[in-house]
Amino acid sequence: MSQPNGGNFDIVILGAGSGGYAAALRAAELNLSVALIDKAELGGTCLHRGCIPTKALLHAAEIADQTRESEQFGVKADLVGIDMAGVNAYKDGVVSRLYKGLTGLLKQDKITIVQGEGKLVGKDTVEVDGRRYTGRNVILATGSYSRSIPGLEIDGKRVIASEHALKLDRVPSSAIVLGGGVIGVEFASVWKSFGADVTIIEALPRLVAAEDEDISKTVERAFRKRKINFKVGKPFEKVEHTENGVRATIAGGETVEAEVLLVAVGRGPSTANLGYEQQGITLDRGFVITNDRLHTGVGNIYAVGDIVPGLQLAHRGFQQGIFVAEEIAGLNPAAIDEAGIPRVTYCDPEVASMGITEAKAKEKYGADKITSYNYNLGGNGKSQILKTAGFVKLVRLNDGPVLGVHMVGARMGELVGEAQLIYNWEAFPEEVAQLVHAHPTQNEALGEAFLALAGKPLHAHS
Ligand SMILES: Cc1cc2nc3c(=O)[nH]c(=O)nc-3n(C[C@H](O)[C@H](O)[C@H](O)COP(=O)(O)OP(=O)(O)OC[C@H]3O[C@@H](n4cnc5c(N)ncnc54)[C@H](O)[C@@H]3O)c2cc1C
Repeated sequence: MSQPNGGNFDIVILGAGSGGYAAALRAAELNLSVALIDKAELGGTCLHRGCIPTKALLHAAEIADQTRESEQFGVKADLVGIDMAGVNAYKDGVVSRLYKGLTGLLKQDKITIVQGEGKLVGKDTVEVDGRRYTGRNVILATGSYSRSIPGLEIDGKRVIASEHALKLDRVPSSAIVLGGGVIGVEFASVWKSFGADVTIIEALPRLVAAEDEDISKTVERAFRKRKINFKVGKPFEKVEHTENGVRATIAGGETVEAEVLLVAVGRGPSTANLGYEQQGITLDRGFVITNDRLHTGVGNIYAVGDIVPGLQLAHRGFQQGIFVAEEIAGLNPAAIDEAGIPRVTYCDPEVASMGITEAKAKEKYGADKITSYNYNLGGNGKSQILKTAGFVKLVRLNDGPVLGVHMVGARMGELVGEAQLIYNWEAFPEEVAQLVHAHPTQNEALGEAFLALAGKPLHAHS
């Protein structure tokens, strides 16, 4: 990274993760000069400790399962074992190729890369190791960290966070996963596929509780079948170290023992001691409060990514970064609709969703104004070829557009692209039902669900 001695820029960006680097790339395209500051590697959590390495592990896990289950397809293969060194080499190879590509993209005249820890010392200035970077505009994009709960210390050995889990040089014989949200179920899924005995502890009444209730039921059924243990609706109380690992106690006194405990209770905003409050920025439980144009209300300071309350997803950060760069350039971009951001949970079975759940739709519009339809993947040829179970669920406003698309089953994440177009273009089921879906694809399940909702089901079993 270059180490210039401060200077004046159109935009100073603090943090080069998904939100920060997307803002830098779009700003440079718009001919704005940028200082992009990061204390660690360009690419942030998503590239180095989040989306990419976890999805590489999940892909290796899928191969392990397919090898184990190959006989169902008439293929004879034995799963001899998981070579974690090999899995990690594959995962790290993917990360380093993407990192190299990103570094190349950011190496351009308009972008000055600054390596070091920055602090906001004025409404237009970030200081790094005594050097001052002043911007006509400032974008805060300092991301998030793995949270814990009071009294539960993450030691990185027995009690670990996702960044430690990604670096394990062995498959734990057993693991407790504290938290049944996205990160928790993804690691539970990987470790089970790799042969570990896994127990999830979740205080809320169901796994993936942010999703539609029908999705949770299907994930729980599939996890039961996979022998992934889970205890829902029971808050965690404490953890003790044992000779070989840890013992967790949950409400009611029940205990679970395992080699490691993964704390996956969410991500907190990285905003402490960065000078934000001193400059008058409003924080709520550490999150930076902005208006819908991502402006903090102070000077020309904007915020993007995980530090802004809402979905903590990389593609939301990308979109917010692009939005703010365009806003600064005076392009007046359309505000981002949070419900229009696609969500995927990459466990097995995969979960993908758009818009709002059936429960939220009924709460918002009244139960009599909402129609929902579940298309069972049992009727979808490609899903049967893959031997996956699940469904595509649609929620519509009667005589109105689609409000929610909720999908569960193998590879459902790949269908979220069409689902997001349908939602964001406020399509009516009758309009989507006219569109042709290739046969045999899982994509057809979406098409079939719309045919059924439009009153002309084809391969739909009631
Ligand atoms: C295990 C895991 C799996 C995930 N999987 C997915 C997924 O599949 N899909 C998805 O969309 N999202 C996923 N996410 C979430 C995704 O990684 C985040 O939403 C995204 O990285 C947020 O981008 P950001 O720019 O806000 O912050 P970050 O990516 O966290 O980047 C912030 C950057 O700021 C830098 N920084 C912080 N403070 C300072 C400072 N004072 N000075 C200089 N630099 C500083 C940091 O070094 C970092 O590089 C996952 C997250 C985790 C942890």
